[in-house]
Amino acid sequence: MSARVIDCVAIAEELKVELKKEINKLNAKGITVGIATVMVGDDFGARMYRGQVEKFCNEMGVEYTDAHPQVETTEEDVVRIVKELNFNKKVSGILPLRPFPEHISDYAIINSIDLNKDIDCFHPFNMGKLTLGEITFAPATPAACIEIMDRERVNFEGAEICIVGHSNIVGKPISILCLNRNSTTTTTHIFTSMAGNLEKHTTVADILVVAAGKAGLITKDHIKEGAFVIDVGINRVKVLDENGNPVLNEKGKPKTKTVGDVEFDSVKEKASKITPVPGGVGAITNMMLMKNTVKAAKIQSKLL
Ligand code: NAP
Repeated sequence: MSARVIDCVAIAEELKVELKKEINKLNAKGITVGIATVMVGDDFGARMYRGQVEKFCNEMGVEYTDAHPQVETTEEDVVRIVKELNFNKKVSGILPLRPFPEHISDYAIINSIDLNKDIDCFHPFNMGKLTLGEITFAPATPAACIEIMDRERVNFEGAEICIVGHSNIVGKPISILCLNRNSTTTTTHIFTSMAGNLEKHTTVADILVVAAGKAGLITKDHIKEGAFVIDVGINRVKVLDENGNPVLNEKGKPKTKTVGDVEFDSVKEKASKITPVPGGVGAITNMMLMKNTVKAAKIQSKLL
């Protein structure tokens, strides 16, 4: 068997067209759809993500606001900035870009975001609603996994779904979203691996969702014949030649490439469906964030 590779870029394109239509309709009614990022200081990862969000907003015709206080800004002042964004009509959604400097607690910033502008479901109240199966903003990456499964017409009820990774922003919400749809969910993590039990759980899964951030963690021995494999992981690894030596670029530095957590070539031969990396879940994640932003704009305009 060779798995069908799911064309997540095509799904993202479809979503983009649908969302652009919705954004245009809202604009025609005089409603601005907008995202504000809140970044304190100059963390490299946060800066990269901020750039992506700005570019993506421009592509989608969405207003972008960059709240970027200096690293020495007090927690109280950052909270005040977030509260101003809560009242800003051009801002439908607020995205805190972590990590924050040590003197600023995630808790203080996240808890000051208006519940109806919490587009990546950071606020504990919204996370509580998600857990209870109530309507809220599902976090973007978990929502992207569900979108892929929906488009593949997965019958969640009774499906054996195993999730590898239990982070608060990826693994845990994926488990909750699947459980809310009455799947039999198994959540595995580093202690499952350390106890030598990872394979025991992954090999019974009809659907395996992997979000561990460990290149090559999942091999063909970890999966059931015909499983549907969703690889959330994003890892930068060195490109190796046939002898296992690093391939160098024109500057004499090791070439690198992006891979997932799943050993794609071997797993593809045993699975029935698989998402690639790059061009997989990540391609859809931005669209899910935009979907939440459009939903937020509608809620704030009393259209929902
Ligand atoms: P994270 O916070 O580092 O969480 C990783 C999870 O995997 C933790 O629960 C960890 O367990 C578990 N884990 C680590 N090694 C393991 C092992 N050997 N066996 C089983 N479980 C293991 O990372 P994250 O933010 O959830 O992200 C996970 C991956 O998804 C990363 O590669 C990230 O870059 C990627 N990602 C992709 C997207 C996208 O849009 N495609 C979005 C966000 C993240 P412990 O906590 O117990 O150590």
